[in-house]
Order: sequence, then C-alpha cells, then structure tokens
Amino acid sequence: MLPASRVTARRLEAMDLPDVLHPFAKPSNRDFLTITEGDGAVVRDSAGREYIDAMASLWYCNVGHGRTEIIEAVTEQLRRLDAFHTFDIFTNPPAEELASELVALAPGDGFRVFYTGSGSESVDSAIKLARAAHARAGRPGRRLIVSRTPSYHGVTYGGLTATGIPANQEHFGPLVDDIVQVPYDDAEAVEKVARERPGELAAVIAEPVVGAAGVYPPPPGYLTELRRICDEHGAWLIADEVICGFGRLGQWWGSQHYGVRPDLVTFAKGVTSGYIPLGGVLVGPAVRGPLEADPDFVLRHGHTYSGHPVACAAGIAALGITRAENLPARAPGIGERLAAGLSEIAEQGLVAEARGAGAMWAVGMHPHVSAVAVRDALLQHGVIARAIGDATVSFCPPLVITEEQLDTCVAALRAALEEVI
Ligand code: PLP
Repeated sequence: MLPASRVTARRLEAMDLPDVLHPFAKPSNRDFLTITEGDGAVVRDSAGREYIDAMASLWYCNVGHGRTEIIEAVTEQLRRLDAFHTFDIFTNPPAEELASELVALAPGDGFRVFYTGSGSESVDSAIKLARAAHARAGRPGRRLIVSRTPSYHGVTYGGLTATGIPANQEHFGPLVDDIVQVPYDDAEAVEKVARERPGELAAVIAEPVVGAAGVYPPPPGYLTELRRICDEHGAWLIADEVICGFGRLGQWWGSQHYGVRPDLVTFAKGVTSGYIPLGGVLVGPAVRGPLEADPDFVLRHGHTYSGHPVACAAGIAALGITRAENLPARAPGIGERLAAGLSEIAEQGLVAEARGAGAMWAVGMHPHVSAVAVRDALLQHGVIARAIGDATVSFCPPLVITEEQLDTCVAALRAALEEVI
C-alpha cells in the first residue's frame, strides 16, 4: 500500500476538481500543495519538500508541530473517554482542568470559561453573552455592538458581521442587526456612536492587534481609551484574542500587553496550537453576574462539542508546553529579529512598509507588486508565508522557531521580491 501522502498526491493529479471545496479559495482551483508532515517550525509536502511554516499554519501552531506531549495527552484521553457532552448537568475532567488553568491565566479576576469549537463560534458566543447579560440585568435595549475596519472576527453570521473586511461579506447578507463598524484606529468614532445611541451600546469588540485583516497594531493608548469609553457608556469590552492570546505579543494575552482588562475574551487557535479544534470565551464578573443571578435562568446557547474532553486534553498539554518553555517570552525576540529584517527590506524599497507587534509581522506591497505572487515565490524558497488580499504578506511563526529559521525567512522574502518585482 502507498503511504497516505502519495495516495493523496496521485488522486489530485488524476482528477478534475478535488472533492474538498476549499475555504477561502477559488472553487475552480485544481492546484493544491499537499502538506503531509510537520516537525517543530518545519512542514513537508507530499513530494518530500520542506518548508519553514512562517505562519504557524494559520496563526495557531505556537508550540510547533509534532509535539509528543500533546499527541500522548490526546491518545491517553481518547483511551479513557473519547467524548461526552457538557450540556446541562454534565462535565468531564479535562474541560474542568483546562478551565481552571485558563481562569488562573485570565487577564483579570473572576472569569469563567464558555467553550466553543472555533474562533468564529467564540465571537458569536461573546456577542450573544453580552446581549443576554445586559437583557438579564434589565437592559434589553443594549444590543449594539461596535467593531472595527479592518478587523477579522470570523465567518459565522455574528463573526462575519463584526468582521471589517467588506469583501468577506459579499453575497452573504442579510447580516446580523445592530453591529456597526468604525475605523480601527479611531477611539473617538466609538465614543461618537455611544453618544448618538445612548443606552444602546452592549459591547465593543477589538483584536489587540488586528491579525488576519492585515496585521495592524493599535495606535498608542488606543485600547485603554476603548476601556474608558466602555466604562463611561455602560458597555463591555470584548478582546478578540484568537490570534493574540497564548503568547503572541509577549504575554499570555494581548490585553495584558496593552494594559487593559476586558470583560469578555475570545480565544481559539493557540489554546491547543491547533492540534484539536477548540475555542471559547472567558466571561468576566460583570457579564457573569446577571447570568448567574436568577437560579431558574437557563443559558440556551452551546455547541455539541463545547468542552470536548479530547480537545481540552490537547489544550492542557499545549498550555503545559507554553508554560514550561516560557514561549510568551520568546515573542519579543522573534519580533525584533523579524522587524529588523523586514524593515531593512522596506528601506531597500522592495516593499512599501513593514509593520507588526510581538511575533506577528507583515510587509505591505508596493501597488504594482502582487502579494500572491510573492507568496508563491516564497514557496520556491522553502518558506510558507500568507498573502492577505493582494497587498500584504504576513509572518506569524511558531514561537519555537529558531533564529536561523527566521533569518532564512527574511532572506527568502528578499529573494522572492527580487524575482517578482
Ligand atoms: N477572531 C480572530 C481574531 C481571528 O483571527 C479568527 C481567525 O483567524 C477568528 C476570530 C475566527 O476563527 P475561526 O477561523 O477558528 O472560526
């Protein structure tokens, strides 16, 4: 029998269109790169070629690929209990243990954990929890959510409506009512909405650093200003930490990096480093309170796989590695090295700008240069980066990446740009 990877490669050659209808891809595309193996910051394709995974897959593989600690924890949990739900009266040990760890790490006191299966579900849940908690507190008129452009909050209807990328919303309407957008760097615009619609603002949602919409750090003081506006106008602050959480910016949470205490924190990706899908919301005391007040109230929201024991076992192991290897502390060094290399490329005039924070960086292309072409050229140099639209190439490497591998990424980008321009 052929190894699985060869079977996949042969099948793809032989057929018209793959059976998988790929996400964020052209449905007509026939040309795919089949990734079959991974180890640390390196992945291999079906032809045996190696690439540095300079995007931690899709912003999530912080601990690197092939970690036996997670593989063993998952295997052990599968043997013990494959799955059992956490609706109504049920729970399981990994769900409780991981929640306790997350609560201990949370950017503030008194949080509880609501589990989901992805970042989008986490954003939807945060929006629903914010609206429900206001309603339970006797403020049913507080339904308005303010988000920002650009931003990325996912693809389910709540997350998609909050997402500040108009192209992502095309063809999918009608979207969710009462989610409005303001420019990502303009706190005054948030306050203007709050003033114009008194008593209506439920929450403001913000990524500490805008990630998948292009890597845009906030202006100085922006997030503390958002916190002040929320406090003054009776709204909650939702930190969407799906990318920034678990060490990306140098501390466990992006909120901590910028010195703010959110009321709700959405997470996913880094919580398991993607080994098993898992997400959730850290629910702070102001939001919990109204939900817990009436002993007869039932929170009619949740997912079949909320608190899945195997996913939570992966989370406990991934957090264990993050803590044992102090991975958050590696982010600033990664960032400095990337920033130095990318800024030099910008100074040479090969790209319009380099921007980023912590261990997430991007280069903005000159108008005539295609980010997709640069991404493709980078592959030829053994580096997987990400094209965001056709104007940005991003880097968000595993936090275990070595200095040599980072230097290889920068050198490969320079070579790719020189070929494409
Ligand atoms: N929120 C943020 C900040 C994200 O970066 C993402 C995904 O990149 C999401 C939400 C959506 O997560 P998912 O793709 O797991 O649904």
